[in-house]
Amino acid sequence: MATPAWSILPDEWKETLKARGLRPFRADQILQALYRDCITDWDQATTLPKDFRETLKAEFPLMPAEEIACDTAPDGTKKLLLKMSDGELVETVVIPVFGKNGDGGRETVRLTQCVSSQIGCAMGCAFCASGAQGIVRSLRADEIVAEVMAARKYGTLTNLVVMGMGEPFANYDETMRALKLINAGRGPNLGARHITISTCGVVPGFARLAAEGLQFELSVSLHAPNDALRNELMPVNRKWPLAELLAACRDYTLKTKRIITFEYTVIRDVNDSRSCAEELARRVREVPMAKVNLIPLSPVDHRPDFRTPPESTMLMFLDVLMKHHVQTMIRRSRGKERQAACGQLRLRSMPQR
Ligand code: SAH
Repeated sequence: MATPAWSILPDEWKETLKARGLRPFRADQILQALYRDCITDWDQATTLPKDFRETLKAEFPLMPAEEIACDTAPDGTKKLLLKMSDGELVETVVIPVFGKNGDGGRETVRLTQCVSSQIGCAMGCAFCASGAQGIVRSLRADEIVAEVMAARKYGTLTNLVVMGMGEPFANYDETMRALKLINAGRGPNLGARHITISTCGVVPGFARLAAEGLQFELSVSLHAPNDALRNELMPVNRKWPLAELLAACRDYTLKTKRIITFEYTVIRDVNDSRSCAEELARRVREVPMAKVNLIPLSPVDHRPDFRTPPESTMLMFLDVLMKHHVQTMIRRSRGKERQAACGQLRLRSMPQR
């Protein structure tokens, strides 16, 4: 059976070749072709003999994602729409952070890519465009790697976040394989601390991730400080309510000594009251060292009643959390002129259902 080339971890290549009766010494050449030369077709691996390239094509196919749209926002954020080999569409976003170089010119100091882990999403969060589409299918590890390879031409990645379409802990094995590959020294070699997984609170994922012993960063989408409100905004909360979620977060932090960041999308007149802020501060403090990112809602077409809060509300939240000694940042949406909120581009490009 054929195995996609981008699903094989660098350290597995020798054994994989041997198991198929192929010469293991080719592994080094293969890895250079894949991750130094970044080939997208085995015929580009000209250091390898032609007949061996034919074998690789049959046994370890390369299935690059085809870029069918690239939309650049005024802030430089690029939103790519990619077509997978079965024709399904996936979004990924490339977000530059600019700094000044020595000559006073502008240079990119950080390039973050946001990848999808599934096509659509089954979690159904009320404010999320991906949730509104339902789930089509999970992505394979090589398809997540294909997202990264497709964005390479826009620059060298410094950070990766799994905050596109889908719930990574609902596609744990394939997502983790992709991240291990992207992190591998002889692969794309992106540092583990520069890779962030974001979950809406699929509780079994926390213990699994802690057991990996990896240094990936973990974000948890909270968005509400009590079960009544969270049940309404995030159906996942009915399966794993806040007490269970926060206990899993606490265990994760105690076991890994790694900080969890809670994401709180502020929605006007929904979860933006002072008492929500107070309650949030109390709940977050159940998890040692936890941080909070406050994000103003990006409006979505399917919920016109959900609106962005005024700046004063964001500052009130910040103030309340700081008073409770919770480390907090206000995050600005990037690329919102280009519908960069989760799932929006795919939604726009599809016929109305
Ligand atoms: N399923 C994962 C990762 C994908 S969503 C998770 O839930 O964490 C990435 C982040 O974008 C989540 O925090 C999600 O709640 C947030 N998000 C989704 N729609 C949004 C919107 N319209 N405005 C602001 N943030 C949104």
